[in-house]
Amino acid sequence: MERTLSIVKPDGVKRGVIGEVIKRLEESQINIVAMKMIYMTKNQAKGFYAVHKERPFFGSLTDFMSSGPAVVMVLEGEGVIARYRKLMGATNFEEAEEGTIRRDFATDIEKNVVHGSDAPETAEFEINYFFNSFEIVS
Ligand code: UDP
Ligand code: MG
Repeated sequence: MERTLSIVKPDGVKRGVIGEVIKRLEESQINIVAMKMIYMTKNQAKGFYAVHKERPFFGSLTDFMSSGPAVVMVLEGEGVIARYRKLMGATNFEEAEEGTIRRDFATDIEKNVVHGSDAPETAEFEINYFFNSFEIVS
């Protein structure tokens, strides 16, 4: 059984697509086992995206991620990391497949509505970054 971290990023919350993201998870039979709204500080965003700290977009990305509330969720199921990445679509919405969340709602390569972990190790780090074990149902 695999877990992954999902975020509806501040642009998604502002544009009112929390429900749409959750609807797509439910329609795909992806189990949500934890969920809350958070408002990241700049430092929390920097810690979360530390893997990208040398990238040119790091400053702008962490400003964006700390610009408003976001919804963080833990998803659970067989192959859920890849299944959720497929629902999200490519990082650049212009390259994302039809019918994916990013293709349908993203406006920008940075403001791309959702986050999803990309591997079991990153999923573990990212889930523990926002949730303790008592906040995840089983
Ligand atoms: N990002 C950006 N410019 C880029 C690449 C990425 O602003 O050229 C942002 C975008 O919000 C992306 C996040 O940085 O979702 C993390 O990048 P990553 O390559 O990990 O993409 P993801 O795993 O989110 O698809
Ligand atoms: Mg990534």
